Parts: sequence; structure tokens; C-alpha cells
Amino acid sequence: MDEQLRWLVELQRADSKIQEVERLRVTLPEEIERIKAELQSERERLRDAEQRLEELQRQRRRKERELEQETERIKKAQMRQFEVKTNKEYQALLKEIEMAKEHTGVLEEEILVLMDEIDAQGRSLEEMREGLRRLEEERISQREALEHKLEGLEAEKSRWLERRAAIVEQVEPEWLARYQKVARRNGGWAVARVDGGTCQGCFMNIPPQLYNEILKSGPLVQCPFCMRFIYYEPPAEAQSAQAPRG
Ligand SMILES: [Zn+2]
Repeated sequence: MDEQLRWLVELQRADSKIQEVERLRVTLPEEIERIKAELQSERERLRDAEQRLEELQRQRRRKERELEQETERIKKAQMRQFEVKTNKEYQALLKEIEMAKEHTGVLEEEILVLMDEIDAQGRSLEEMREGLRRLEEERISQREALEHKLEGLEAEKSRWLERRAAIVEQVEPEWLARYQKVARRNGGWAVARVDGGTCQGCFMNIPPQLYNEILKSGPLVQCPFCMRFIYYEPPAEAQSAQAPRG
């Protein structure tokens, strides 16, 4: 490969790394915030479910108190049976007892339903707590990894900037100027590999004559379509080891 081209490839690698670091400086904090928000909303969901359980338990206690009072009323009414003087009073008392018993039946039924709901809510709470515990474990270690990566970005960027400065020293000013012009036009991407006769920058087919020049590792060549500097890299051993199937 032409030496200048080799330096341009290196320069591109450094510039791409620097761009990547810049991108991560924006996206990592966003990802960290997303994780925090996700955990926050799961915790709120759990709190809502806990409040729902408390509300059901309150309802149950209320019904049980009501049931106790009603039972007490029946007991007292039953004792009064022996004190009444007239048949009319007796009939009224029986009616009162009958209605109170009906009411206790309803209350008992309602308490049973509430107990079922409390059981179900308790079980689903347990599942939610366990789910949240697992999620927190997973997300917190993810978040810590992201925070760690974020902390290392500054150092990584200065390493690549230093490397870039060293590379730039090796590139002839004319080529550097052309590189920068092409990079500006292509979102910072000025050097592309050619694979299977296709520019990997714009995916257009390189004209055969130009392709031959690239294969011969000739001078610096630019893609006629996207103007990126293009080069051919013989397939690595790993790639050539992939035998076609069938
Ligand atoms: Zn191209």
C-alpha cells in the first residue's frame, strides 16, 4: 500500500475513534438516565401495588369490625327475646334478628372475597419485589459499567488526539487538505475500503480500470462517486477461512 494512503487510513481510524468518543459522551449519559428512569417507574409500580394491598387490608378490617358489631347486636336481640311482653314486640325482634343475620352473611361473603384478593395481591407483590430486585441488580451493574466507561472517555480522547497529531505530521499537506475536504463532505468519513469491487463508503461499483489500479496498490485513488480515498485490503486469514457453504 502507498505510504501516504497508509497514513490516511491511520488518520481515518483516529478520527473515527475521536468521533465515536464524542458520540459516547452524549449517548452514555442518556443511557444512564434511561436506566434510572426505568428503575424509578418500576419502584413506583411496586409502591402502587403495596398501597393497593394496604387498602384491601383496611377494607377487610372495616368489614370484620362491622361483622363483630352485627354479631353482638344479634346476641343482644336474642337475649331480649325473653323480656318482650307482646307478640308484636316478639315478631319485631325476630325480624330484627333475621335481618342482622342476613347482613352478617353478606359481610362474611365480602370478607372471603377480600381475603382472596389480599392473597392474590400479596403473591403478585412478592413477584414484583423479586422482579424488581433482579432488575435492580442487572441495571445497577449496567449503569456502573456505563459510568465507568464515561469516566474513561476523556483519557481515551486525549490518547487518540495525541495519536492523530503524530499521524498528521506524516501526511503531506496536500493530501491532508484533500482528506479534510472529503471528510467534511462525508460526515468525517474520508477513507473507505473497497470490497468485491464496491466502495464501502457509498456502495457504488468502482469502474474496472480504477479497480485494477487499486488492486496494484497504486497511487492514492478517490472513489469517483463519493470522492473518498479508497483502498483494497487483502482478506484477513479469518475471512478467507470462511469457506463458501453448500
Ligand atoms: Zn464511494
